[in-house]
Amino acid sequence: MSRLFGDHFLNKLTSEERVLITRLRAICDADIGPNAAQVGSKDDFAWDTFRLLAGAGIIATAFPEQYGGTDARQAVRIRIIEELGRVCSAAASMITGADLSARAIVAGASDELKAALVPRLANGEIQAAFGLTEPGAGSDVRSLKTTMQRTGDDYVINGEKKFITRAGTADWLVIVGRSIDDSSKFIAALVSRDAKGVTIGPSAGKLGWYGVPIASIYLKDVRVPATHRLGQEGDGFNLAQDALVRARIGHASMALGRAIGAVEIAATYACDRDVFGKSLGGHQGVQWMFAEMVTQIEAARALVALAADKYDSGDADSAIYASMAKLHATDLGMKVVTDALQLTGGRGYLKDFPLERFFRDAKLNQIGEGSSEVHKTVIGRDAIRRAAKADRNPCLRDGSLTDY
Ligand SMILES: Cc1cc2nc3c(=O)[nH]c(=O)nc-3n(C[C@H](O)[C@H](O)[C@H](O)COP(=O)(O)OP(=O)(O)OC[C@H]3O[C@@H](n4cnc5c(N)ncnc54)[C@H](O)[C@@H]3O)c2cc1C
Repeated sequence: MSRLFGDHFLNKLTSEERVLITRLRAICDADIGPNAAQVGSKDDFAWDTFRLLAGAGIIATAFPEQYGGTDARQAVRIRIIEELGRVCSAAASMITGADLSARAIVAGASDELKAALVPRLANGEIQAAFGLTEPGAGSDVRSLKTTMQRTGDDYVINGEKKFITRAGTADWLVIVGRSIDDSSKFIAALVSRDAKGVTIGPSAGKLGWYGVPIASIYLKDVRVPATHRLGQEGDGFNLAQDALVRARIGHASMALGRAIGAVEIAATYACDRDVFGKSLGGHQGVQWMFAEMVTQIEAARALVALAADKYDSGDADSAIYASMAKLHATDLGMKVVTDALQLTGGRGYLKDFPLERFFRDAKLNQIGEGSSEVHKTVIGRDAIRRAAKADRNPCLRDGSLTDY
């Protein structure tokens, strides 16, 4: 059997990486896909899916080999996330979430902490959550108000974090706050969920992404040893930034995987369903919709692959390309899922049909890890900054353009 979408990106992987993807596909076919409707029916943490991914070594791909991981390239991780996104957003989010929640630990924790925690994060024995967003600081995240005060060998943390994925199941919380002594300095610290003064709120009801609940975290005079600071004082945002860049490429891959799954489902319907004397897919208007969807998905896959390559090679532009990939792929993902549902008519609207879940899940990719509007602002600002320094187009004559 061949797939509707080409496997051309797999040719760029090593044979070992291809084996991993083949193994993951078998797991998606046998378990994650058939169970996705059940996972998507209520918003409890999908432990079975998590354990399956951990047992198959998929969670470990986010972590360095030195600490029990397999440290997969982003070029591989986008394929993993796409495969999972094609069938189950919760499963895909467990992989992007490993980057978001644990990357700052890998990058900034002491060697002792890493040796104690990272192997257990990599094998799924424990989990971490990433607490950046606050009630008054989402898109404008630098206005966060959580404070960290150094007192002797400890930091005392006070604040509130909102919308935190896996807050209810995480053993460790990466909390980003602001130094009380120097408010320009952001600090990231690792907080045990059992620390005195930590309260996790109830799960917040949400539209989609069932299987990975979110909750608020309240921190009241929480003491953590200074050895649990990640990086140096002032590094808080840089550490968060690397986690976010990886997670943004992940959001883009997840949105594309879901879009691929949606088109596959709509295409099967278009082949099965007869309308006005021929198959739905036999009508030119319907074929044009498929033409737009498959062409735009393939173009977006190329952009996401470019962003992953840039990240893997340490390119200075990788953050901007991650923003472009996220903006384009997640907006496209929402449009494709909407069009695919439209093509399946009343059946697409039924709870029983997978596109209802795909439709609910698609929206968050445009909001989390920076909304589409925030990424547009970042990309546009960067484009204008580059334009001011770039070579002039040779069609222009010398001098100011206002002199034309
Ligand atoms: C399911 C879910 C899981 C999440 N998981 C985590 C997590 O694990 N950790 C974490 O720290 N956070 C998490 N978040 C928070 C998420 O990152 C924020 O919701 C997101 O960054 C947007 O912030 P906000 O919701 O406060 O929106 P706001 O900042 O209130 O923005 C609202 C909207 O305004 C628009 N907007 C904002 N700024 C601009 C601008 N400059 N120009 C034009 N338009 C603009 C955008 O459309 C934006 O969506 C999660 C959120 C959800 C819903």
